[in-house]
Amino acid sequence: MELTRRHFLKLGTAGAFFSSLGFDLRPAMAEAKGLKISRTSETRSTCPYCSVSCGVIIHTLGDRAANVTPTVVHVEGDPDHPINRGTLCPKGASLRHYVINDRRLTKPLYRPPGAAHWHEVEWDFVLTEIARHVKDTRDRTFQSRDEKDRIVNRTLGMAAIGGCTDTSEMNFLLVKTMRALGVVYLDQQSRL
Ligand code: SF4
Repeated sequence: MELTRRHFLKLGTAGAFFSSLGFDLRPAMAEAKGLKISRTSETRSTCPYCSVSCGVIIHTLGDRAANVTPTVVHVEGDPDHPINRGTLCPKGASLRHYVINDRRLTKPLYRPPGAAHWHEVEWDFVLTEIARHVKDTRDRTFQSRDEKDRIVNRTLGMAAIGGCTDTSEMNFLLVKTMRALGVVYLDQQSRL
């Protein structure tokens, strides 16, 4: 059950009432809290919102059968993660709504030159377009030598920046790929 503000106030009032009669509600509360994640599978991940990169555990309900659509029911801080030790800021604590959100894009959008609207396209089309633009830009802007005739083999026509959830291994590959293309303007979390 989703805990709304109204439910919260009701529970608080009922809790105070039963506590005043001498009942200890803590075991019942602990049991109710446990039920929410008792049948979930846990996936460790990284909060995508900022460069702190806190570790999170994503709880997914669904028995991994082919005819079941898994649903994320809870996201919490990872207590074993060295950065945040289980804590999350309010943005990280709301991560479930980042996953379960009917406004979330699930397919690439494309707006052709001169068009006023975006429309959904397939990944094959997007990747081909990106590759074509990278190739065209590099061919057009590549410099073998600078103004003092020093060998530079670079392009100043492109830049690359990594995201905060990219791992060091992914950043290593990003840097290798971009340097191979001659990209100079480059930054990512690992600062390689
Ligand atoms: S939980 Fe907050 S501090 Fe941690 S990575 Fe996410 S946004 Fe940054």
